[in-house]
Amino acid sequence: MAYQICINPDCGCCYDIDQVLHSCNVCGELLDVGYEWDSLSVPDSLSHFGCYRFSSSGGVRCFSGVWRYYDLLPFLPLDKLVSVGEGRTILQNAIHISSFVGINSGRFFLQYEGLNPSGSFKDNGMAAAFTHGAFVGARQAACASTGNTSASLAIYAAVTRLMEAVVFVGSGKIAYGKLSQALDYGAKTIQIQGDFDDALMRVRQVAKEVGIYLVNSVNPFRLEGQKTIMFRVLDDLGWRVPDWIVVPGGNLGNAAAFGKAFIELSKLGLIDKVPRIAIINASGANTLHQLYGDGENGDRETGNLRWNGGRYDKIMVKNFYDKMTLESRKANTIASAIEINRPANLSKALRTLEFCNGVVREVTDQEILDAKAVIGAGGFGCEPASAASVAGARKLVAEGVIDKEQLTVCILTGHQLKDPNVTVAYHGTDQKFFDDTLGKFNITSAQFANKPITTTNDQNEILKLL
Ligand SMILES: *Cc1c(COP(=O)(O)O)cnc(C)c1O
Ligand SMILES: [Zn+2]
Repeated sequence: MAYQICINPDCGCCYDIDQVLHSCNVCGELLDVGYEWDSLSVPDSLSHFGCYRFSSSGGVRCFSGVWRYYDLLPFLPLDKLVSVGEGRTILQNAIHISSFVGINSGRFFLQYEGLNPSGSFKDNGMAAAFTHGAFVGARQAACASTGNTSASLAIYAAVTRLMEAVVFVGSGKIAYGKLSQALDYGAKTIQIQGDFDDALMRVRQVAKEVGIYLVNSVNPFRLEGQKTIMFRVLDDLGWRVPDWIVVPGGNLGNAAAFGKAFIELSKLGLIDKVPRIAIINASGANTLHQLYGDGENGDRETGNLRWNGGRYDKIMVKNFYDKMTLESRKANTIASAIEINRPANLSKALRTLEFCNGVVREVTDQEILDAKAVIGAGGFGCEPASAASVAGARKLVAEGVIDKEQLTVCILTGHQLKDPNVTVAYHGTDQKFFDDTLGKFNITSAQFANKPITTTNDQNEILKLL
């Protein structure tokens, strides 16, 4: 049996599984999906999941890399599960990138979530949220999005026809690869004036008022699907637990989901070690880093916000956001997928940081794009936000926080082709295009650029270049 439960230990209110909520009705905190594990059949070893090899004819547990681990997210009956073939992603041994990061070859891996049907990890969560929305009988599903959530929602609506997709995007930066997906898959696309934070606030209001099912990561079911990214990492490591998981932090849904995955695996006795987690902000959207600080105990320059068993300093958060509003401070980074100043899953991310002995860092847009180019040259393309994980890992190795022998996994959250303008601007020869596309993010150099060579259409000239 499954239920929903408020994560505030002083509240702990429970709600039925078929209720549609984005926060606790009593205290306003986020909700978790909870399970009565004793009454469920949980395998006694993780190697059990090996029996669900990928195939299109073996049922949904073999078709989907999310539902493969159904026993660890059994919030609805098996026959209700929705899938478009998400989560068939792989852990890559990234030998040509490890030296850039500073980790010994063979100890550095990339979890390549860009290989999902819509090209980002969001499909893991969407499978679960869409399953729940269809179960409660919703006819429309909506999200606010920096692009990838809308692309994901749109694909589930187009393939299954169980709910209609309505996506809210900001008027500013949305990468064309992502916008084109929402349009191509037929989602009703509403572009509002404002940024992601504005769009999320608006869609939460609208969804509540007219009963549209909300699939943003404040939806606790979405995060159940995203737990499986960690299950697949462990699975591909032969159920070894790595030393470090490094993930970009935007709305902090992954950070929240990963922590919950490890809390539950530990509780069920299925792992005997918990990895450390590093959450990497972009400098232009660094709310978590500012609030959490750098060191074990925070530092004086930045904050010292801790989960503190669920009794975290809400006044400190409120003051921070009030100041941000007062100063009209807006998030600003080339990594549009993490260009978020008010991360909806902040409290759950704090819980993860406590359970996984985590650290938080920020990286500049320049560091992000340099890392992205190295990832690409290693054969694994990604979009800018994803590269924050690799840039962050590199920083933590340089600081001596990650040791070069430690088994480290960076999450590549989204596909290279999501944001081709940035890639071409970085590598290209056209200074104006570079300045126009990257200059406003203070990106001044492209030391890993693979510049195209221009020449006349002449055989001898071309031969000289080879
Ligand atoms: C959504 C998204 C993120 C941010 O993930 P959160 O779980 O919201 O922190 C990072 N990278 C990509 C490519 C994304 O689409
Ligand atoms: Zn509550």
